[in-house]
Amino acid sequence: MIGYRCVSCSDVQNEKFADFLCPSCGGNLDISYDYKAIVGDIEGLKIDRPRNLFSFAPFLPVNKPNERLPLRIGATPLYAANRLGESQGLRNLYLKDDTLNPSASSKDRASAIAICRAMDIGAQTISVASTGNAGSSLACVAAAVGLRAVVFVPESAPVAKLTQALSFGATVLAVRGNYDDAFDLCLAASAEFGWFNRSTGYNPFTREGKKICAYEIWEALDGRVPDRIIVPSGDGNLLSGMWKGWCDLKGVGLVDRMPKIDCVQSESSAAISNTVHKLRSGNVADLDWSKVTIEEVKANTVADSIAVDRPRDGLAAVRAIIESGGEAISIPDEDILTAIPEMAKLSGVFPEPAAAAPWAAVKQMVSAKTIEADELVVCLVSGSGLKDVGSAQRAAGEPLVIDPSVDAVRDVLRRRSL
Ligand SMILES: [Zn+2]
Repeated sequence: MIGYRCVSCSDVQNEKFADFLCPSCGGNLDISYDYKAIVGDIEGLKIDRPRNLFSFAPFLPVNKPNERLPLRIGATPLYAANRLGESQGLRNLYLKDDTLNPSASSKDRASAIAICRAMDIGAQTISVASTGNAGSSLACVAAAVGLRAVVFVPESAPVAKLTQALSFGATVLAVRGNYDDAFDLCLAASAEFGWFNRSTGYNPFTREGKKICAYEIWEALDGRVPDRIIVPSGDGNLLSGMWKGWCDLKGVGLVDRMPKIDCVQSESSAAISNTVHKLRSGNVADLDWSKVTIEEVKANTVADSIAVDRPRDGLAAVRAIIESGGEAISIPDEDILTAIPEMAKLSGVFPEPAAAAPWAAVKQMVSAKTIEADELVVCLVSGSGLKDVGSAQRAAGEPLVIDPSVDAVRDVLRRRSL
């Protein structure tokens, strides 16, 4: 790590800089590396050995993470989802199953690096604003290392995510308001009480955790580069992290081309997609990123993990989509819900609504003919269906209730033609 570069105005700070936002314009910061120095450090990166998040230490901005975090974070499987893909005529569809992280979402990647950073600077209390998953994730990783976590969530967050955070021992503050209210309160309270704020987008270290997902995909594909990776997007940090990971791999010469990074959002929470479409209606060749703004929306979607009015890492995400040539897709909520049991039935992976959205995006792209049958496509499955059983139930329905008799079973089989 050599310093920070502003995503908006490109101003540079050195590695000793202790704040989170660009002092010139207030933009988000992106951590930069000396790729030439890393090149000498990555010999043996592809050898077979037990994996976790920190197998990629040369690319990380924190010290000795392996020795400090006892949980297995990352190293999640990349499944060839043949039945799911074939249902839409695709021959190379993969699911990156991030439901298998310790708290069952991609957020553990960001929590791990943010907590290592907190330990590096001696912080005792870590705060986060969250739609639910980042909170349960921070609580989980903090519990593993014995740090104190304070979690701000909207009052409406799904009960499973709140219960996870409470069980892990976090102080959980359910704010009367939406995610954006929780975010602003977390900022103010962290400044007031001196907490290390892990909030997504604002804290540049979260992207450094999420980017590791890209290295794992690259490794699982034996160094092949996917044609496109579809990322569910609320704040945009998972997406900007995915792009950053591939930029790192290209920076050190491990890949020679880049995947398209596609964004999928709910139609009713589509600030990033809206901005991409607006910019693409003009000339994107020489955009002055310091002049680009993201228009707020009024989010109201069943996919709580991506329900965001003002995406806190929106600019970095918009840049990643445009620079990678990716699609910006918005999906109606009913199609997101339908995608939950479809993905589950045809792959064995059970997604929460946000994590089902990439599959809904695949179907939309197939129908719009923006995706080809042979493309190597990766859907990021960012959180488990068990985190929001109510939404899954709306799409999957109820079990059949029967008397305890074989005749009752026979009757059901006849009525259902089974
Ligand atoms: Zn700036």
